[in-house]
Parts: sequence; structure tokens; C-alpha cells
Amino acid sequence: MKRTGARTGAARVTSGRNGDSGRREPNRFPSASKPDLALPLPAAAGVGETGLAPGLYLVATPIGNLGDVSLRALAVLRGVERIYCEDTRVTAKLLARYGISTRPDRYHDHNAEEVRPAILAALRRGERVALVSDAGTPLVSDPGYKLVRAAIAEDLAVTAAPGPSAALTALILSGLPPDTFLFAGFLPPRRAARRRALGGWAALEATLVFFEGAPRLAEALADMTELLGNRAAAVARELTKLHEEVRRGRLADLAAHYRDMGPPRGEIVIVVGPPEPGAPDPAEIDKRLRAALAELGVRDAAARLAAETGLPRGDLYRRALAIRGDAK
Ligand code: SAM
Repeated sequence: MKRTGARTGAARVTSGRNGDSGRREPNRFPSASKPDLALPLPAAAGVGETGLAPGLYLVATPIGNLGDVSLRALAVLRGVERIYCEDTRVTAKLLARYGISTRPDRYHDHNAEEVRPAILAALRRGERVALVSDAGTPLVSDPGYKLVRAAIAEDLAVTAAPGPSAALTALILSGLPPDTFLFAGFLPPRRAARRRALGGWAALEATLVFFEGAPRLAEALADMTELLGNRAAAVARELTKLHEEVRRGRLADLAAHYRDMGPPRGEIVIVVGPPEPGAPDPAEIDKRLRAALAELGVRDAAARLAAETGLPRGDLYRRALAIRGDAK
């Protein structure tokens, strides 16, 4: 397959006028936007009958609502010789729904080392290959990063048909500031590592976006309350599906809600707002609570700090219990 030339780290857009038309690159078209691949394309050298140039296509798929697949994603999936996915049963449903007959192959965490060389070899031969995940955007807490890195290292063409992503969908529905955000993926499952990770994000002036499994939701929210402070947050569940729900509130209230009702059903994204101006530093509050606990019982220590800081007495009481080790 023709190489993309300069190792820019991204597929290159070529003008076609400088003798380096890059005809076989997915990004070879001179227009500011890519051609609408859902529509028939003018014949162009190297693109074959499918209208698709050779290369690796990272194709986003729906996160719950099959109608969210893009026209371009479908055109790419129709036009490629190979489709790699995590779970063939999941992808087969999407393909069947849109009458695409290509049989998908598996590329996932457990076979990636074996399968990657075959994908790279296909790309070198000039084939068109799509990578999808079970839901959403490939590579985002899903397989594909090492494949993309290897393709880029060989100057093989890589492009994307972007689309749904649970992280961005939750962010825009959260009602929290979207201008600066950090996508933190899944927190570590073990409590100590999770708390260390949260401590690392605490001072960041950004909205934080986490993926979380239902069984750990209440625990994660409680740890966030302690380590990030009682910030505004949202728990986004079953996005784009029939039972979509976005529950907004303070972290402590959300933690109490899910502790009381037990793990909810479905898939979850937690969005936590940035530190609030004037909000007390959780480490400072802990220090003052510890000092109060040296002289007073939990209830009185919480009451004293509530009077001094104006913070909710219930939050301080729970935190004082945790410090005393009674609420672990
Ligand atoms: N690559 C995917 C994306 O771009 O959305 C994310 C894959 S990650 C393995 C799966 C996690 O995404 C789930 O555990 C959940 O945290 C989140 N997720 C996926 N679909 C979701 C949905 N419909 N509603 C809420 N969260 C979802």
C-alpha cells in the first residue's frame, strides 16, 4: 500500500496538486470536509468500486440506540474488506440491521497480539479494514490503540468515522461545565488505588468524566466525595436507551442515593464538576476534623466544623465517622 509520507502521527490530507495525490489514502480528498461516503462517489484512482481508499477505518457505533450509527459509518462498513470487532455477536447484530454481509472477525484484549500482524499485513496489501468496538468509539476504554500506533509507525493510512461516545454524551447531558474536562476512564477497582487516582485529580480545574460499573457505583461516589469534596456531579445511565436517566446532585447525595437503593441496572458514566471557588479543600477539612476529634465525639466534632465552615453537618458527620474508622 502506498505510504502516507511524512510521519505526522495522523493521516495526512493531501491536495492532489503537488504530485503527491495520495490517491490511496482515506484522507486524499482536497475538500475541507471528507466526501459524503453515504452517497455515490466520483470514480477516483485507487478507491475501487467501494469508493473507499485503502487504510484502517476507526468506526464509531451506537452506545445503545442502533439509529445512532452514521451514514458514513455504514458506508465504510459496507465498503471494507475486513471488519474487526470485540464481540462478533454484538457487531453481527448491527451489520444485520443494516444489511451488511461482511462477516466480522475478532480483535480484543486477549487475541490482539496474535491478530494485529494479520491486520497490518492486510493494510500493507492495500486492503480496507474497519475497527469497531461493541459500542461507541473504538480505543476509548476499548481495544485499538496498539493497532493504531503500529499502523502509524508503518505510515499506513488511518482515519476515523466518528460518532457516539458515552463519555461525551454524559458530559453534554450533565449540566456541568464542558469547556475543560478530563476523561479518566475506569477508576482502578481496588479501593486504595482508586483513592490514590482520585487524589491525583483533586486539584485539577476541570470537569472529570469516569466510566464505572454498577456494583461499584456507590463506593466510587463515596470515595469521590471524600477525595474531591462534595462537588456537583451527575450519574448518567443507559444513555440513548429506553431507560436513559441522568441523576444530578451533590456527590454525597448521589452516594447516599445509590448506597440506599443498591446498584442500578445498566451502564454508567459519572461526571464530576470542577472544584468550586471558595469550596473548602477536602484535605484541610480532614485536618480540622481530626483536630476536633482529638477533643470531641463524632457528633460534636461535626457540629463544631459545620458552625465554623457552613458545610452541611451530615457530610461532616459521615466524614468524621470515616476518619474515626467507624464507617469503613
Ligand atoms: N468506547 C466506548 C465509548 O466510546 O462510549 C466505551 C467503552 S467502555 C468498555 C464501556 C463503558 O462505557 C461502560 O462501562 C459505561 O461506563 C460506558 N457506557 C457505554 N455505553 C453507555 C451507555 N449507553 N450509557 C452509559 N454509559 C455507557
